[in-house]
Amino acid sequence: MAVSPNKLLSVRDVTVRFGGIVALDGVSFDVSAGQVCGLIGPNGAGKTTLFNCLSRLYAYQAGDILFEGQSITALPTHRIAALGLGRTFQNLAMFRSLPVRDNIMIGAHARSFAGFVASALRLPSVSAEEQRLRARADQIMDYLGLLSVADRPAGDLPFGTQKRVEMGRALAADPKLLLLDEPAAGLNHEELADLGRLITDIRNRLKITVLLVEHHMSLVMGVSDHIVALNFGKKIAEGSPAEIQRHPEVIEAYLGAQAAADAAQEAAHV
Ligand code: ATP
Repeated sequence: MAVSPNKLLSVRDVTVRFGGIVALDGVSFDVSAGQVCGLIGPNGAGKTTLFNCLSRLYAYQAGDILFEGQSITALPTHRIAALGLGRTFQNLAMFRSLPVRDNIMIGAHARSFAGFVASALRLPSVSAEEQRLRARADQIMDYLGLLSVADRPAGDLPFGTQKRVEMGRALAADPKLLLLDEPAAGLNHEELADLGRLITDIRNRLKITVLLVEHHMSLVMGVSDHIVALNFGKKIAEGSPAEIQRHPEVIEAYLGAQAAADAAQEAAHV
């Protein structure tokens, strides 16, 4: 099937089962280049499973995922970053004892010619490449306001700053599509406002397309051009933020989830 040129990502009828659980059930949607696409749904809807399919951490039993028109289904995980798919994780994926600069350079290595092993061995041929990566890491740290903590161990920094380091690691690989997995979780009010501005700037100025999994509704509604809603592994709606906010199945999914959470809390107090 032909893919229109502005479709950066096409998820086609993807199904993932874990034993008896159907985590994704024939999910299809496209992400257009230059957009922020929000992916929402109550707990257990299948959002992280979908991200793990995009990163090739999970295999899907049916369907296909196309990136720039090419199937990624047969690609090994280590080829994904080189293709232009960058990702942050819910539980920060960084080397806590290494300085911020090194963490960000590790992200840049994902697309470098020299490769991480050759660089770790400090082969002479890689020194020019090393300098290039260091300069790139410094640019990214400048962009994210991290230069003042460049030499601090990442794990010693406040949580919100660590999340920016994680974002820096993903950006350093020069992704075409940035997958953000709950970037707002654990942030305070001010950090949340900064994150909204940052995501918009990543789209507008860096020209990076973003797929955003997030529970924080005002953030998703504020920054997304398009939203896909999942529930129990199925796509229940997609459209503009305004369309999603008034979509009956989305309202039902969230009210249902809230009612279940209220009931569980009540039961815990009995
Ligand atoms: P949350 O918002 O809570 O992170 P989610 O929308 O990301 O939820 P997933 O984590 O993708 O949802 O989970 C979808 C379903 O698949 C859930 O029922 C979950 O228990 C199940 N699941 C996810 N990963 C696995 C796994 N590795 N093994 C077994 N079941 C899994």
